[in-house]
Order: sequence, then C-alpha cells, then structure tokens
Amino acid sequence: MNWLVEPKVCPGLYYATPAQDGFLIRIRTPGGWLNSQQGKAIAILLEQWGGKLQVTNRANLQIRGVQIAPSLEVFETLQKLGLAADNPSIDHLRNIMCSPTAGIDCEELIDPRQLVKELDNFIQNHPSITKLSPKFSIGIDGGGKVGIGTRSAIAWEHRYNEIQLSAIALNNQRDLDSGIYFRLALGGDKQLYDTNALIKPENSLSVMSALVKVYGDYVQQNPSSTGKKPRMKHLLKDWGVEKYLQQVNLQLEHPLHQVETCPIVPTEPYYHLGIHAQKQAGLSYIGVSLRLGQLTAAQLLGLGEISEMFGDSQLRLTPWQTILLPNIPNEKVSELLPKLVSLGLSASIGWDAAIVACAGKPGCAAAATETQIHASMLIDYLNDRLTFDSPVNIHVSGCAKSCAQPSPAEITLLGTTIEQNGEMIDGYQVYVGDCKDSLKEQIFEGDFLNIPSIIDSLTVNC
Ligand code: SF4
Repeated sequence: MNWLVEPKVCPGLYYATPAQDGFLIRIRTPGGWLNSQQGKAIAILLEQWGGKLQVTNRANLQIRGVQIAPSLEVFETLQKLGLAADNPSIDHLRNIMCSPTAGIDCEELIDPRQLVKELDNFIQNHPSITKLSPKFSIGIDGGGKVGIGTRSAIAWEHRYNEIQLSAIALNNQRDLDSGIYFRLALGGDKQLYDTNALIKPENSLSVMSALVKVYGDYVQQNPSSTGKKPRMKHLLKDWGVEKYLQQVNLQLEHPLHQVETCPIVPTEPYYHLGIHAQKQAGLSYIGVSLRLGQLTAAQLLGLGEISEMFGDSQLRLTPWQTILLPNIPNEKVSELLPKLVSLGLSASIGWDAAIVACAGKPGCAAAATETQIHASMLIDYLNDRLTFDSPVNIHVSGCAKSCAQPSPAEITLLGTTIEQNGEMIDGYQVYVGDCKDSLKEQIFEGDFLNIPSIIDSLTVNC
C-alpha cells in the first residue's frame, strides 16, 4: 500500500495532492458521520503531520499543508477505524452526502442513514466504479427541515451531486407505503436537472446500481482525448436526461415512474445552527459554527469529549462546514454550552456561518488572492459591527472556478490582481445578486482594504 502523490488525481488519503503549502489529504466520512474515537485519531495525526484541518462542503475532512507522508501503520489504523477504504482505488471518490440531521430531524420524510450505509458498501465492493470520474458524487436528502443544498433555499438543490435523491411527499401524503418517494435529479456543469422520476425507497439501491452501470458504460464508450474521464455533464450533454433514463430502465425490473411535476420542499439553510429538538422526545441536537470550516486538533478532541460526556459519542459534519452534536438530553444542554465556549466555539449564528472561502493563496496555484485570510478578516470586521436575523451568504473565491461554493451566493468576492501605484496587488471584484440567481451585477473592483466597508454597506441594505 503506497502513498501516491499525483497532481491530477482528486485528493484522498492514499492519493495526496501536492499544493504550494504542502500536501492536501482528504478523509472520507460517508454521510458526514464521525465518532469521538475517529475524531481522536485524526487529532493525533494532525499534531504529527502539521497542517490545517477543515470540514469541507461535502461534509468530510481535509488537511492542508501536510508535510510528511503517512506511514503504513497510519493507513491500517484509519482502515480499522472506518476512515479509510480497504480498496485504495475508491478512497478518493467524492464523499456521499446525506442530510446532517438524518434520523433525528422532526420533519424528515425518510431516514436515509441505512441507504447511505448500503451505498457506501456498494461503492466499496464494486471496484468497477473507478472507471467513473473521481468527481462522481451522490447526495441523499431525507426531506427534513435541514436539507443538503448548500445555501440554497431549495432543499434538493446541490450542484455538486451527479446523482441526487431527495425525499418528497407526493400530494402531501406522508405515508411511506403510498406517498413518500425519492425524486431523482442529475447534476452536471453547475446545473441540477430534475428528472421527475420517483423511486420507492426500497428500490433506491437497485436504481442507483442501474444509474452507475449505464454511466460507466457511457464512460467506456466515450474515452476522452484529454485523458480525463467523461463526467455526468458530458453524458447529459450527449444523451439528455430522457435517453439516459431509457438506458437505465433497460436495467431495471420495473421502469422508473415519471410524473408531470414534483413538489419542491423549501428549507432554511442556517436552521441547523443552535439548539433544536429532535424527533426523539427529550433529546436535542446542537449545531456549532466553525470559522471557514476550520478546526484545531484541540477543538476536535474537545468536541469528541463533549459528545462522549453528554451525547452518544457521535459528531455530524455538515455541507455548511459546521458540526452537529446529536442526541444531547435536554436537561444537559445548559451544562454543555460553556464547554463549547471554552473551546472557542459557539452554537450561535454569526458571520462565521455565512462566509465561505476557497483555499486561495498560497495553497492553490490558480488563486489570485489569500482568500482564507481575507475572509477571516471580513468575518472579524462584520462580527464587530453587524448582527442579523438572517445571514447574508458571502463567497470569497480566488478564481472563477468557485470550488468553495458552486451555487450562487448573495455577495461574491472574486479574486483578481490589480495595479496600484505601479505595483500589482491582491484585489477583488464584488458581485451582488440573488442567492437563487446566477446572474450577478459587478459593483466594484479594487484593493481588498476597501472591501469590508463595501460589504458593510451592502449587508446593512439587505
Ligand atoms: S476557486 Fe480557484 S483559487 Fe479557489 S481553490 Fe478553487 S481553483 Fe483554487
């Protein structure tokens, strides 16, 4: 078992990506589930390796700036803890996303946890899945109050997932035998294409298997001249949704059931932060903000200890780069909150939760600006000046690729280089627009030093 450093492969544990500040390693946590023992192991590694730990927008963990290669012993330890695939070739596939409040959400239609486990098992045991692009991605939304869409108000919308199943109640019938289905959407090229195909929950795995088989066949029949594997966006462009579904139906005992229209379940993107009752009487979950998804080793250890002391030793990572502490007895909540504060963390909604930033300089060679540093300065500035009822989503991106948040933000800062007094310096273009609308208006271009006050005036008016 080797540690492979390959610049062109998506980062994983066995496949590290070299970056300007060291190696980038990603640790898969299907569904965003992490227990305290796993958290402890990662915190110890972080101390040995150096680097910065972050919860990603696919609800897994990444460490940037790793300076040493993991040993065979590390791989074996992480495999035993369920943090590394037994088959290294599938380890760097994108993490399976799942509603962070799966199984505890008071409004969820389907508890998707069993399906996520079955899908992970399917991936682990079907090495042929590696013929797909490593950007192959799955999202499962249980239709609860907390969806998996980034910051969109539409629960099922998450443009990262090539295959997205989202629970819906057809004609408002919340009866699992007749009215509740998964609706299928397909993602590609920053678009989510609704298929209006409904899947009975018990058929989800067989449909997923058929979707993957046909996708794999397409990839094999259409080798790319660039050496990159075709993705769902290419399949959809070549075939369209209908032809893809026709091919999938040939693999199924019963064809997919398509309807004229499907309900869309609205969601509240920041609802998960703070203290919330679970569907289990007497228990609550607590949503904790993290600045830009960052966690120190001490914070990760501390959260694990809190979860052991008050909950069930479980943590949930979310696609909003935050963490949930589930299954906390209601009477213990007030005793728990000061322990979060002593770790430098909080369950309140501040600007930490609303501002996202990509890696930026120096980690990413494509970056025009130091996005993480600038975003952090912006958070401090706004936390000192403004409180809000509903956060304004601000996306700080080092280039137009928008790795941190592919869906539209209310305010976007796009890194650029500008000339000032004969010198080239970091600057930003500021765009404003509706969160649900990718059309944006550029209102400013200039030095970062001017940005905080511009954002201040924009958010006051929001
Ligand atoms: S958005 Fe651009 S600058 Fe930021 S991490 Fe992605 S590629 Fe790098």
